[in-house]
Amino acid sequence: MQFSDFGLDSTLMNTVQHLGFSEPTQIQQQAIPAAMAGHDLIASSKTGSGKTLAFVIPAIQRLSKNRALSKRDPRVVILTPTRELAKQVFSQLRLFTANTQFKAVLILGGENFNDQVKVLEKEPEFIVATPGRLADHLKQGHFYLNGLELLILDEADRMLDLGFSKELSQINQAADHRKRQTLLFSATLDHAQVNDFAKELLKKPKRIAIEAGHTEHIDITKRFYLADNLTQKEDLLQHFLATEKSQQIIIFTATRSDTERLAKILSMQSLNAVALSGELNQSQRNQIMDSFAKGQHKILVTTDLASRGLDLVNVSHVINFDMPKHTEEFVHRIGRTGRAGTKGDAISLVGPNDWLSFKNVEAFLQQKITFTKVDGIKVKFKGLKPKKAKPEKAKIAKATEQKAQPRKPQKVIKKTFVDIQDAGAMKIIKRKKALSADQIEDSTKKEQD
Ligand code: ADP
Ligand code: MG
Repeated sequence: MQFSDFGLDSTLMNTVQHLGFSEPTQIQQQAIPAAMAGHDLIASSKTGSGKTLAFVIPAIQRLSKNRALSKRDPRVVILTPTRELAKQVFSQLRLFTANTQFKAVLILGGENFNDQVKVLEKEPEFIVATPGRLADHLKQGHFYLNGLELLILDEADRMLDLGFSKELSQINQAADHRKRQTLLFSATLDHAQVNDFAKELLKKPKRIAIEAGHTEHIDITKRFYLADNLTQKEDLLQHFLATEKSQQIIIFTATRSDTERLAKILSMQSLNAVALSGELNQSQRNQIMDSFAKGQHKILVTTDLASRGLDLVNVSHVINFDMPKHTEEFVHRIGRTGRAGTKGDAISLVGPNDWLSFKNVEAFLQQKITFTKVDGIKVKFKGLKPKKAKPEKAKIAKATEQKAQPRKPQKVIKKTFVDIQDAGAMKIIKRKKALSADQIEDSTKKEQD
């Protein structure tokens, strides 16, 4: 199949050719015609498989072919969970609208509010935004959505995880009319919260799922290493940095303070590392992302702030210094490498504090994960086993009663674990104790948007 088979508007088709895209990816092959036919979509495909163009192309096509419902209102709104991703989507969109009369603007949290009011007064056809700030402008009447034709949610599940459902509902309700089309995209869209939300937002959606979620990403080689503690994680990291053949590397940590700490340690060894976290102001964030994208830094140490959507072509390695708190983020983090058919390596370090997250990832991927060892680094930790709760009499009776019934497989594990090494002392490790609340990367919408 070729892009020319879609029957795109000639200006749009010329742009596609001019930018060097010949064959649509699988998700594009399915999502572009379905969106062009006017369907609402819940579309998922693996990381790096071209989802952005799968919504940008039909959006421009719709605007080229149809008359606007309103002269003043935006016609397409694209929302993303983070400012960095919004910027990236915006720059892709700009490439595709360059030869058209359509105006596209970017509305992000953390940037000057009044400047954005002026930008919105120019009555752009396209708005790319983070949801919190856009909802603020909407509430204050800086624009209206009665003429909105397309609402696109990129990384829709992450926006819900971050607590943006209220803002998304407000935006949805402001554009509540029959001709509105809605498209949801992500590599992970199969959890219950998304389904509930889809019911509110979408009309008879078509589902497209191509190698999404737990499906093995054949271009990304995953390796897992056990570690006793933080010091050992740092030893392992040093080993990988010295031995792996790498281009650029993204290291994910659980906490913001760890990004700074690790980047400092690495920089002291002349390793050209930089830290990105939500603690920084927007111009610092922009500067770090721009210089990393240009290859001016070898290593980016970050949190789940950078787990979604970022398309950085020279990232050969992702290192999970800590396992992610939200299971799906594992798929997205490692998906920062192995993009658009290139190969990548994903290395994950698993210490006692990571064990619960690790087991959740293992369950999510539906595979038995084995650990690799490094010569010269002696690790005692062998994993934790679930603590057996003493069955009470009543429970025993109930269990006997229910024996004949098949049990549903448990998707996400919520258990306490006992250190296998330290079983004598019955050292119970509870996840909450592993990191205090303020140490954990605070993935609130305030930070992201
Ligand atoms: P996703 O959103 O699925 O993670 P992106 O939209 O960020 O993926 O695209 C990943 C990379 O693939 C980008 O660099 C993009 O330019 C490239 N790409 C997209 N569509 C095609 C295509 N049809 N042919 C070749 N490369 C493509
Ligand atoms: Mg994407």
